Amino acid sequence: MTFKFSTASEQRLVGVHPHLVNVVRLALSISPLDFSVTEGLRTKERQAQLVKAGASRTMNSRHLTGHAVDLAAFLEGRVSWDWLLYRRLNDEAMQPAAKELGIPIVWGGSWVNFPDGPHWELNRVSYP
Ligand SMILES: [Zn+2]
Repeated sequence: MTFKFSTASEQRLVGVHPHLVNVVRLALSISPLDFSVTEGLRTKERQAQLVKAGASRTMNSRHLTGHAVDLAAFLEGRVSWDWLLYRRLNDEAMQPAAKELGIPIVWGGSWVNFPDGPHWELNRVSYP
């Protein structure tokens, strides 16, 4: 099965680093699960709101520079926040796509202190 991004997902990729966009596009083409893009580039104002609300811990977010995306996995046509789906998106779509393109990415779900399952970003070492 081949999935296609909605117009909303496409719009949310605007302003995102082209290498990360390439990873996300290839990931969708090989993914066993459908997913959408819920957020890409973020304004400073929105980031400040998220920090205030406790949804984010840093004003140094990779979303501010277009180096991060948030994805939402679909299960039977509906968005699901089941952690297992995000591990599958990482292991079976995002990481294989990144590897194939030679673009190092980091999954937020692998963070120990503040795991962020729906979040992927370009590696800070390769993409400062
Ligand atoms: Zn994020």
